[in-house]
Order: sequence, then structure tokens, then C-alpha cells
Amino acid sequence: MAINMAEPAKALKSDYDLLMAKAKDIIIIGSIQSLASWDMETKMPPKGIKQRSQQLAILSQIEHQMTTSSEIGTLLSKIEKHVAYETLNELQKRNVYLMKKQYDEQTKLPEKLVVETARQQALTIDTWKKAKTAKDFSMFKPELEKLLALRKEAAKILMKVKETRTPYDALIDIFEPRMTSEMIAKIFGELREGLVKIIKKCATAPEKPQASILMRKIPPSVQQKISNELAQFIDYDVKSPKAGGRIDETEHPFTNGYYDDVRITTHYYENNPASSLFSVLHEGGHAIYEQNLNPEWLYQPVGMGASLGFHESQSRFVENIIGRSREFWTYFYPKLNLLASNAFSDVALDDFVRAINQVKPSKIRVEADEVTYCLHIIIRFEIERELIANKIAVADLPEIWNRKYHDYLGVEIQNDSEGVMQDIHWASGYYGYFPTYALGNIYSGQLLTKLRKDIPIWQDQIRTGDFLQVKKWLTENVHQHGNLYDPADLIKRITGESLNVQPYLKYLDEKCAWIYGY
Ligand code: ZN
Repeated sequence: MAINMAEPAKALKSDYDLLMAKAKDIIIIGSIQSLASWDMETKMPPKGIKQRSQQLAILSQIEHQMTTSSEIGTLLSKIEKHVAYETLNELQKRNVYLMKKQYDEQTKLPEKLVVETARQQALTIDTWKKAKTAKDFSMFKPELEKLLALRKEAAKILMKVKETRTPYDALIDIFEPRMTSEMIAKIFGELREGLVKIIKKCATAPEKPQASILMRKIPPSVQQKISNELAQFIDYDVKSPKAGGRIDETEHPFTNGYYDDVRITTHYYENNPASSLFSVLHEGGHAIYEQNLNPEWLYQPVGMGASLGFHESQSRFVENIIGRSREFWTYFYPKLNLLASNAFSDVALDDFVRAINQVKPSKIRVEADEVTYCLHIIIRFEIERELIANKIAVADLPEIWNRKYHDYLGVEIQNDSEGVMQDIHWASGYYGYFPTYALGNIYSGQLLTKLRKDIPIWQDQIRTGDFLQVKKWLTENVHQHGNLYDPADLIKRITGESLNVQPYLKYLDEKCAWIYGY
């Protein structure tokens, strides 16, 4: 006799709805936290810092209590063991999975460790800032050691919950779910080999771009107008009465928010207008991802980006594949000159495009060009993998860092501020984060290959100032899927193949062949 599933399925649905109501509350609290952080970076008067840190501390405490509440635990075990569990659809099962993952991880980490890590994090960042100014690693070292020890402790616990092979893999999983250091090492090996070949070809090529022509004085007020124009091009509305975005100024650019309220920031350097130009396109790429998630998934765990790597694939796609292309500048160069009182009228279009694509090994990651950028990431990955595995100590960092920069990029580090202390990530306790930057570039190459097949005339569209078709393609292929799939499944779904570095290398090689005339 067939069992009638109607009644059990109804009961299950009501538990599921209760779980989703809890998810909604947690997501809303998280969005208030993120708004308070945005305000702290953009508008808050300096004196407000004490009140703000109290506000943020309370909010994160509330969030932690909500995510680890026994009601969620009870609902999850009821749902998972439910006789009608199979009546849930793919989307519902994914929501349950994501809630369970969050619950398991949060409840296994002792509150003492969480609180101690947050405290040490703030302290280490503060010390990092001072040590960086003083160019003194020995000042930074003891605080970094303490924070690293706490993260290793968390990694050991998370390794069991997440069932990863190593503690480092557990940390990677926080930012790029189901990615492993073994997979990364393999793909980065191939990436490095390909990049080194391209760098050599550029170095010995007959034509050399003149990047110095980019250093033109453009007042920040004019750069602001250029930013608005760029936002309009990518269909990121910051001006109309229905706008869901805005652009503000901060020391370091970032994106904040989701769905109908997504804000970006940039920094205007008077003598280096390219800096804000490309940061607006980069953050704009992040922003349109968040704005074009499936609207029905608002307040559900699936209603967010798939991973940091996928997020970076969208920002790098807009910044580099679109923003540094000859097609885009064919359209935008006259506009730039019009807005900036002909600041570049003596520079030919092709010379400008070559200049913004110059390949030159350097010491600072955030200033690196498209080709050498991933070498900076590979260095960080190799170091943090050994660090978490206790194969190297914090005291060894400067020496190892400087040696790798010599070996991989051929540059000599003069002091630790331009060396191992240049990034905030390790001071923040973010180990396993860096690889996502390179993974984003690799995904973007695969996406480009698929786009070329689907819209053969996409470059003609960009040349006439039409980004809407490409944006629609990105929305349908990437944005709409939100967090329904783990990144490895998502890239396969979109492109039909697993993570593959060759399309990205091919894209770079073709571009450099034109820029450098090899
Ligand atoms: Zn980014």
C-alpha cells in the first residue's frame, strides 16, 4: 500500500517555513551590521568609533546567539530526519544544507575562542597599522603569532565539522566552499608556468607601452562625474529616483550590501585618475552581482553570491575583460576626454589602451597588472599553507616573502612594509582568503570562452557602448544562481567544464600579443 505523503509533507513544510523565518531574521541582523560598518568607513565622525564598536559587538553577539539557537538545532534535526524529506525541492534542500552548515560550524566553535579571536583580531590590525608605518616587523610579530594560534585552533575544530583533509582546507572552505589546497596547488602550478611565459614574452617584446602617460591631473570632482558615467555604462544605477546604488569615497575601495541597496566606494587620486576608474568598474562588477540575484530568494541562504572566488570573477570580468579592452575604450575614450577637459587629447586611443595594460612585475599586489597579479597570490598561498601546517614560523615570514618575490617576480623588497606587511588579510585572521582572488580570474577566463560562443558579437556591442547584453548574460549564467551550487558545480554548469586555467592564460596571451606586438 502506498503511503500518503500529503500530511507529513505539510508538517515538514511548516518546519521548513519556521527555519526560513529564522534565516530571514539572521540575514537582516547581518545586513544591519554591514550597514554600520559601511557608515564607519564613509560618514562616521572620528569621535564615533567607541559607540560604533559597541554597536557592532552587540550585533555580532546577537547574530551568534541567533545562528546557534537550540530552536534552529531542533528544526534542523526534525527536517533532516523527516519521513517526507524527499518531498523538498532542490532549492529547499540547499537552504536546509546551508543553514545546517552554518549551525554546525558555529556551535562547534567554543564561545571563548570566538570572543578571544575577535579581541585579538582588533588588536592585531591596530598593531599592524603601527608596525607598517614604522616599517618594523618585530613589532607586528608577537600579535600575529597570537592571532595565528587562535586561527589554527579554530581550523582544527572546523576540519572535523567540515570533514576536510587538512586544517588549512577548513579555512579555505570558509571563503571558497569545497575547494582544497591540493586542487589549488595543482591549478596554481599550471597558472604560474603560463604567466611566466607571457611575462618573458612581454619583457623581450619590441613594443613597450608608456604607462607614465596615465599620470594626468584630473580634479576629484571631475573624476566623480567619470565614475557616474562608468556606473551608467554597466547599468549600476546611482542617480535615478529608483537607484539601488551609490558611490562614496574611502581609503580602500569596497562593495557593501545586497539586492536593492548595494553601495560601492572608490578613492580619487588627483594625479592618477586610472585608479578610481578601474576601482569603480571592479566594485561595480561586485555590485551588479548582488543586485541581480534571484529576487525571490531575498532573505534565504541561497540569496547570496556562490563564493568569494565567484564574486571576484564578476569584478575582474567588468574591470579587466571589459574595462581594459580596446572595444570599451573605443566607446568611452571620447567621453573621458569630454568630461576631463581633453586631459588625454594628445594621447592616441591605442597608446592609452596599451598604457592601461602594461605588464610590469612589482612589489605591491593591489597595484599589480593583470598578468603579474596572480603571482602575488601564488606566493601568499604557498606561504600560508606552510604556516598553517606548522612548517614555517611567523619569524621566518620576511625572509621567505622576500626570497619568493625575488624568485617569482624578480623584484627586491627593501623593507617589510612593502613586503610581508603590505596586506591587511593576515592581520585580520583571514587565512585561506587569498587564493580566491586568483580563482576569480580563472573563472572569468572560462566565462569569457562561454560568452564568446553564446554572443559572438559581444565586442561589437561593447564598442557601441552597449553592455546590457553582456550583463544579461552574466545575470542569467551567474547572478541568478546565487548560492544554489558550490563553486565547483557552478562553473561546470555554466561552462560544461571543471576549473581550467587555460582559457584565462589564452585570454592574457592574446591581449599581450597585441599590446606588446609579439
Ligand atoms: Zn574584488
